[in-house]
Amino acid sequence: MVERFEVALNTPAGRLTTAIDVPTGFIPITAIVPVTRRLGEEASQLEVQRVIAAGQTISCRMGCAACCRMLVPLSAPEAFALREYVGQLPTDRRTLLFNRLGDTKDRVKREGLWDRLNDVAEAARPVPDEQLDPLNRAYYALRIPCPYLENEMCSIYEARPAACRELLVTSPAELCQDLVQNPVTPLPVSMRISSILGLVWGSLTNSPPRLIPLPIALEWAERHEEESRRTWPGSSLLDQVLDSMWRFLSQAFQKK
Ligand code: SF4
Repeated sequence: MVERFEVALNTPAGRLTTAIDVPTGFIPITAIVPVTRRLGEEASQLEVQRVIAAGQTISCRMGCAACCRMLVPLSAPEAFALREYVGQLPTDRRTLLFNRLGDTKDRVKREGLWDRLNDVAEAARPVPDEQLDPLNRAYYALRIPCPYLENEMCSIYEARPAACRELLVTSPAELCQDLVQNPVTPLPVSMRISSILGLVWGSLTNSPPRLIPLPIALEWAERHEEESRRTWPGSSLLDQVLDSMWRFLSQAFQKK
């Protein structure tokens, strides 16, 4: 059984109106992840239409995975959702994935970054940008392909993190070969879905809004598996998501 909600959000690129189906009764946090990401993608589509109407082009194309060497942050609900997704893959796919994740872990450990990634994921308070930036840069400098990348294509496309969906550029694709040195022009993101889900999870569990680096997300989700089993009324989870979105959007309008 699902309940249908009509949602209207004013974004800097226009008004988003859509219908959302949320399961009735008590649901785990992972059940709200797909609809939250969908709202983020619909907001992003408004931005895409806006730049196209202004005569610009989105340079991102299938098969270009230059940005899949960055350290992708996930909210806790997304890490749990990723674990669920990987758990239902056929055994051979899962084995392949675990092998790649193992190789990435070995490499990141050798470079001395593994413990730092775990420190970020388990931090007792939000990690400030001054601490995150050097870690992001050190990781990106290694140019390690995302463990979920296969032949330059995302192998978990329908389950990929919100942060991956949000990165679109209007600058020439060649510039993405070095996202630190080159003047890349990303599309504005009015709602950062990983931050929104992180805030919701923080308020539900009385924990700091945390961001979990993608290479350690499955291990983190396994360590915190018990937390993922908690449930809340579906409509109350949607309320909290929408409340966080409104706060994000009002900040986006203030920045304009
Ligand atoms: S999850 Fe997919 S889209 Fe995101 S960085 Fe990895 S391969 Fe790229």
